Amino acid sequence: ATHTQYYTTGAATAAALYKPRNPFGHKGSFGKVQLVGGSYGKMGAIALSTRAALRSGAGLVFTAAPETGNTILQVLNPEAMFIAAGKEVVEKIKAEDKAVLGIGPGMGQAPETGAALLRYIRSANGSLVLDADALNLVAAEKDMLHLLPAHTIITPHPREFERLFGKAPDSMLQVELARANAMKYNICIVLKGHHTAVVLPTGACWYNTTGNAGMATGGSGDVLTGILTALLAQGYTPADAARLGVYLHGLAGDLAAAASGQEALIAGDLPDWLGAAFRSLS
Ligand code: AMP
Ligand code: MG
Repeated sequence: ATHTQYYTTGAATAAALYKPRNPFGHKGSFGKVQLVGGSYGKMGAIALSTRAALRSGAGLVFTAAPETGNTILQVLNPEAMFIAAGKEVVEKIKAEDKAVLGIGPGMGQAPETGAALLRYIRSANGSLVLDADALNLVAAEKDMLHLLPAHTIITPHPREFERLFGKAPDSMLQVELARANAMKYNICIVLKGHHTAVVLPTGACWYNTTGNAGMATGGSGDVLTGILTALLAQGYTPADAARLGVYLHGLAGDLAAAASGQEALIAGDLPDWLGAAFRSLS
């Protein structure tokens, strides 16, 4: 029972994971998302995550960011509510009742932000998505990996992965390193790249089949964080949210590239194609 299990997430797998929206549902049925991040000059990152969560079916979306982001964020996404999480940088992380948190985009690595993250992770028990600077902060303080709630989803790009788990000589061995750490820490690792690998706590590895090089542009990953957090908030298990979310994110990128070309693609286009991506599933 030690042999590796490799799978791919294509259209049929994604359609099987998808749960159609309850016709009788109200906003309370579709979960609360709370995105945490942003800092001076990087408010766009958390705004992109927020927009993606709004376009991925969440009932309510909160954005917790430094006060300097209030106007920017409320203007960019009037559907989301703002929570002041500090003055210039994130200084405190406090979850809204029953919210699923996605932490990291644009957050920076200030010491007070690192301290707030550590305090939050010590007390957290629900499902959680960690990305970007949250991962850099975790990498700087390795014991934090042991504290992550079971089945936390982390979404490192190759450099963030390297900071967390070290260097691997090639991409096959990098996936093996991801498998070892997903099992060790009981977490889901979304190793982002051309064929993003979703590595589950069981050690199973799901390669994604959607996405294109047009998505190699600032902010693409922040959109993924919003999608994953919204799917968790709607009751998808972390394993299902990770596989379905990565597939939808890539498909939104493929649809955007088909419309406007890979060069012109910007991260802000991706949330606008999520509707068509979701509709392809039913
Ligand atoms: P980040 O580096 O955090 O902004 O994340 C980049 C996102 O874009 C990830 O979801 C990647 O999987 C995706 N991406 C970047 N480059 C490519 C590529 N060449 N092919 C497919 N997806 C890509
Ligand atoms: Mg990123």
